[in-house]
Amino acid sequence: NFISAVVPSDEIGVKFDDIGALEDVKKALNELVILPMRRPELFSYGNLLRPCKGILLFGPPGTGKTLMAKALATEAGANFISITGSTLTSKWFGDAEKLTKALFSFASKLAPVIIFVDEVDSLLGARGGAFEHEATRRMRNEFMAAWDGLRSKENQRILILGATNRPFDLDDAVIRRLPRRIYVDLPDAENRTKILRIVLAQENLVPGFEYDKLAKLTEGYSGSDLKNLCIAAAYRPVQELIEKEKKGTNNGTSSVLRPLNLDDFVESKAKVGPSVAYDA
Ligand code: ATP
Repeated sequence: NFISAVVPSDEIGVKFDDIGALEDVKKALNELVILPMRRPELFSYGNLLRPCKGILLFGPPGTGKTLMAKALATEAGANFISITGSTLTSKWFGDAEKLTKALFSFASKLAPVIIFVDEVDSLLGARGGAFEHEATRRMRNEFMAAWDGLRSKENQRILILGATNRPFDLDDAVIRRLPRRIYVDLPDAENRTKILRIVLAQENLVPGFEYDKLAKLTEGYSGSDLKNLCIAAAYRPVQELIEKEKKGTNNGTSSVLRPLNLDDFVESKAKVGPSVAYDA
């Protein structure tokens, strides 16, 4: 099974509002994708405004590219197909032509649809020379041929959205097919505050919890790192309660967890650091 997910638009369950920060990315995607998919008639005049068929999201790992792709499908009212470059090339040694045809014909039945290709560098990366597996090369050529076929049918609302942490590994043929490239950056302190507010929205925090302070203490953390830090912090009251129960110092039967405080996060930093090397 080469497709990792197929989700109808109304079941994706992630919206732009669920993503903290990345306002510029949302704005660019609104113009490039959401408007043309929602109002195709406005893009059918003249030659200048043509729906974009390929977009690349690039940037450090964990910055929310996958989350953004899903939310984009929701916002655009498009169905969502997700495939992973490395799965395609490592697990599939069958008939590349059949596989690619099946994918694209399936996609055209689901239009409007966004085909999200995570790790697009492993599927469509720079030609690998002598070490490149024959199956990988066939797969890549078939994929590009099918993609070109798609580009000629102007009215089909199919968008290929690639994501990569390694944009320099993509070859020119792919870069040309992904004419719009959007950088998804690590969040600065202000944007980390926004992400923390979303990730912690449902949590029991001490009154007046200092989001800004926590944001300042997490320089270099990606959205994904912040989420992992919050998970580690949320675990501390649970651990404490279990310790108390073990020692019999829990004064009866209370199993109510105490609210999270800034210290829980500071202490958890030793376990969850920034995953991308960062020069402050
Ligand atoms: P990778 O490049 O490693 O595939 P990615 O850029 O696709 O990473 P995601 O998989 O989208 O990153 O992010 C991982 C998780 O981190 C998300 O499911 C989400 O919980 C959290 N996350 C990342 N960025 C944000 C954000 N800006 N706002 C809210 N949550 C975020």
